Amino acid sequence: MELLKPYERNFIRQQLHHLIQTVYFVGDFRTLRAIEEAVEIKIGEVIHRLNPEVKDLFQNVSRFRGQDEVNDFMKLLSPYVEKFPMVTSSQIRKLFPKVKKMNIPDFENMDDFTFGYLGWRDVGTQSLYLVYYEEGEFYGLACRYTPLPGNKSSFCCLCNQSRAGNQIGLVTTKRSHELVSGNYMCLDSQACNQDLTDMSKLREFMGV
Ligand SMILES: [Zn+2]
Repeated sequence: MELLKPYERNFIRQQLHHLIQTVYFVGDFRTLRAIEEAVEIKIGEVIHRLNPEVKDLFQNVSRFRGQDEVNDFMKLLSPYVEKFPMVTSSQIRKLFPKVKKMNIPDFENMDDFTFGYLGWRDVGTQSLYLVYYEEGEFYGLACRYTPLPGNKSSFCCLCNQSRAGNQIGLVTTKRSHELVSGNYMCLDSQACNQDLTDMSKLREFMGV
């Protein structure tokens, strides 16, 4: 069965959120109808390859009027979202042969595997590690980061969300001996994964 990618699920959530924001803040019926139509089209482009049983869940977008309905719907959708493959600590270690000491979070026992990439930081060495999976292959990238000072904020280049303080940093890496200059990125990869609606920036950064 064709499944939704996690970033597509996020895109759908973002569109539905946009729709209910319109319900809250725009009184004009015609504007609301226009937004509903636009949301239907955008979601339609994402779900067109899915099975009819999944597509049927999306009937009648105008039923979404509040956050609770969106939350319930996202729960209903979760069995149809692709999961990140199970990866063991020793598999991860092999992706970073040059890193001598690495603390790897307990990814094997996570509750939710519907995310686009694995990421974690080592505060002691100011390192950020990224793992991505595509077509049977795992990719690993070790990076260094400099957190943003104080309460400054910036946009993450992966998920486009504004984050502040130690949630975001300037991330730099080396790829085949070449220094890849810094990008502002979420240091909390779980939060980043919730907002990712497009994998192209991450794939590019990781050299996939
Ligand atoms: Zn992010």
